[in-house]
Amino acid sequence: ALPVVAIVGRPNVGKSTLFNRIINERLAIVEDRLGVTRDRNYAQAEWLGRKFDVIDTGGITWDDGKIEEEIRAQAEIAIDEADVIVMLTSVVNGVTDLDEKVAQLLYRTKKPVILAVNKADNPEQRANIYDFYSLGLGDPIPVSSSHGTGIGDLLDEIVSDF
Ligand code: GDP
Ligand code: MG
Repeated sequence: ALPVVAIVGRPNVGKSTLFNRIINERLAIVEDRLGVTRDRNYAQAEWLGRKFDVIDTGGITWDDGKIEEEIRAQAEIAIDEADVIVMLTSVVNGVTDLDEKVAQLLYRTKKPVILAVNKADNPEQRANIYDFYSLGLGDPIPVSSSHGTGIGDLLDEIVSDF
């Protein structure tokens, strides 16, 4: 079986956009409203000749699920199924309570967790990623899933953990 990479994070940080970017296709549905990603959430990807499966855990929805419960379920899927977990957040809102909740759920796994900070579209935003050290998941990697910047560095880090 191929290594499995799971993307977790609170709603609206850009998980589906990053998933699309990693699989090089526009398969996942990206929406502004919360909880509307109802799409394919599992696909094969490749970086530097290394194939892996990637899961957009936010694309797995539960009807009427409370956000905290959905995030807990996403983290459980990632911890159970993945070889490498990418926790995604966004530089736009800074560190939120939900980010801290996600991070805390991930502390209990020994699997590698990579912290990526999305929506770092320009140098000013990239300079704001240092706040995310407070999540206790190591060096935050700035990415812009919509522009495509930083994705190569993130993928390098992902495949180095296989
Ligand atoms: P998800 O709920 O975590 O899956 O987030 P989505 O991928 O659906 O994205 C939520 C919103 O953020 C959409 O309006 C996206 O267009 C936007 N978005 C995603 N990535 C970026 C990015 O790198 N920069 C900016 N500025 N917006 C982004
Ligand atoms: Mg989504």
